[in-house]
Amino acid sequence: MHRLALPLSRLRARYDVVVVGSGYGGAVTAAALAGATREDGNAVSLCVLERGEEILSGDFPQTSFEGLRRLQLHWRGRRWGAATALYDVRVDDDIAVVQGSGLGGTSLINANVLLEPSPGVRRASPFVASTRQIPPSICMT
Ligand SMILES: Cc1cc2nc3c(=O)[nH]c(=O)nc-3n(C[C@H](O)[C@H](O)[C@H](O)COP(=O)(O)OP(=O)(O)OC[C@H]3O[C@@H](n4cnc5c(N)ncnc54)[C@H](O)[C@@H]3O)c2cc1C
Repeated sequence: MHRLALPLSRLRARYDVVVVGSGYGGAVTAAALAGATREDGNAVSLCVLERGEEILSGDFPQTSFEGLRRLQLHWRGRRWGAATALYDVRVDDDIAVVQGSGLGGTSLINANVLLEPSPGVRRASPFVASTRQIPPSICMT
């Protein structure tokens, strides 16, 4: 399967825009900026930085034990598990958060229930408007 991520050795010293994180937020931001042009007429150079790994179909854990090995747990300033592990669980006194770590962010571990945005929502946001051409089945806004 085709990989999207490039090795760190390909990282350049400067970019016009650096997007941190490749979840829905980062991906939509990067997609909206990808075709943009700078004032001097050159294309905007863009980099998306992602802390986690690129996980391809077939690389996901298949058993509970494998799932536990792909867990990072943060509690009281300490971390158990690898810093790049797929399931990132953060426990505080008031709230606990489960998030995905990897190319695609929490979409890697979410339920993938999608709603097509209403026309009013699409009109209200330039980012949402930029997704008009995307078929509803993969439109995440
Ligand atoms: C179990 C579960 C089920 C869900 N089901 C649904 C659903 O069915 N439908 C739906 O619409 N939503 C669902 N959601 C919610 C949805 O997944 C999130 O709202 C969405 O992923 C948030 O997108 P985001 O871009 O804000 O953050 P994320 O998707 O969490 O992306 C953040 C990214 O930033 C990266 N990152 C963080 N820090 C750094 C750093 N310092 N440097 C580089 N990269 C960094 C992370 O690794 C991650 O890839 C679900 C969530 C969970 C946990």
